[in-house]
Amino acid sequence: MDFGWTQEQTMWRRAVREFAQKKIAPRSREIDTTGRIPPELVKSMAEMGLLAPTVSEEYGGQGMSVTMATIAAEELGRAEISLALPVMYLVMASWGYIFDRYASRELKQEILPKVTAGKAFLGIATTEPGGGSDIEGATRCKAERQADGGWLLNGEKMYISGIREELALGGCHMTLVRTEPGSGHRGFTFFAVPLKDNPHVTTTLVEDWGRQGISTGGFNMDNLPLPDVNRIGEANRGFYYAMEGFTFARILIGATCVGCAEAGLQMGVEYIKQRKAFGRPLATNQGISFPAAERFTDIETARLLTYKAAWMADELYANNTFKHKDVALAAAMAKLRAPIMAFETLNEVANWLGAMGYTKEYPIEMGIRGVRSYSIGAEGAMNIMRMIIARELIGGEYTSPRGA
Ligand SMILES: Cc1cc2nc3c(=O)[nH]c(=O)nc-3n(C[C@H](O)[C@H](O)[C@H](O)COP(=O)(O)OP(=O)(O)OC[C@H]3O[C@@H](n4cnc5c(N)ncnc54)[C@H](O)[C@@H]3O)c2cc1C
Repeated sequence: MDFGWTQEQTMWRRAVREFAQKKIAPRSREIDTTGRIPPELVKSMAEMGLLAPTVSEEYGGQGMSVTMATIAAEELGRAEISLALPVMYLVMASWGYIFDRYASRELKQEILPKVTAGKAFLGIATTEPGGGSDIEGATRCKAERQADGGWLLNGEKMYISGIREELALGGCHMTLVRTEPGSGHRGFTFFAVPLKDNPHVTTTLVEDWGRQGISTGGFNMDNLPLPDVNRIGEANRGFYYAMEGFTFARILIGATCVGCAEAGLQMGVEYIKQRKAFGRPLATNQGISFPAAERFTDIETARLLTYKAAWMADELYANNTFKHKDVALAAAMAKLRAPIMAFETLNEVANWLGAMGYTKEYPIEMGIRGVRSYSIGAEGAMNIMRMIIARELIGGEYTSPRGA
């Protein structure tokens, strides 16, 4: 067993931290207020190799391991606690990897170099108005094969990150649709759906109450014709690719929560050391320092779960040491613990700050709003994490939501 970091990992963390603290952290409030990630920040992230770094070098990425990508996610969460920018990072890093792994060479050449250069957005669209947790039961979007070998797509996706960003930059959303009705989870296929300037697509935006710098919305596909080259991976294997992408994304979510919570805790610790009540610093009261110790421990717990999952994912991809379901279980545990840990940590710090904690002078409120998106649903609701974990513990015959 080895809990240490390699020299490469240490240097990468140092480089990302320095970059993120210098360039991103001072602009967190601006990102939240304007509802935009400044284009020059996206450009400097591209220069730093932080846009879809998991994509192969051939397409402008770095072929980065899951662990290295997780380190960057933690540092971005620490710097930008509204979590808008970390979300942009994690969506492209995790789903970019899946895109690179399964899409055709022609499609990768068209999309990925632009994504890694910050000139296109790559998103993920599985959720629909009828539900996100039950993909098999709720998915109405479909693609029908045409005589010329292409596909015709119809249906609506909803609560999708990065709609405005893709409309501005171009790129595509990896969109999961039904291609073989009646075949359950073996009847789904992913397609690269471009939203920008697409006459067969109409988009909507919803107003979120957190992570304001990245948009959420939906899109409707009305007889959208797509060539077969836009199919990502094998037909009817899309559900499996979706589960693989969720696993990766959940690990990165865990890391952004760890970074964001640690940044918040640090702010709180500095405050309780200097703020006095009843003639002495707040920190001298065990009513303050003990919850601080609890939160510090919770952060470390979430970090261990997250990096264990990252390490397992790397082992799976490099050496086939684990099965995907083992990594999915570890990722679900990280996603179950980290967002709640981050919410509780930031909420606790808000208490220490007193009235100041309820103002926008401190970034804590941005973090509280941001992390809540993860426990409500982004990349899988908490009960779905519990379902994955219970299935491993107790067995699918007892825990399947559709019954045995
Ligand atoms: C900010 C944000 C960004 C998002 N971005 C994207 C994106 O980019 N792409 C994308 O595809 N989706 C995205 N989503 C959607 C997300 O994936 C879904 O919210 C999530 O999958 C849950 O689906 P739902 O919201 O339809 O809730 P539902 O599936 O309707 O579930 C509602 C509640 O019921 C619970 N529940 C469901 N079934 C069971 C059960 N059997 N037992 C017990 N409890 C159950 C769930 O845990 C949840 O709490 C985003 C969501 C948010 C909040």
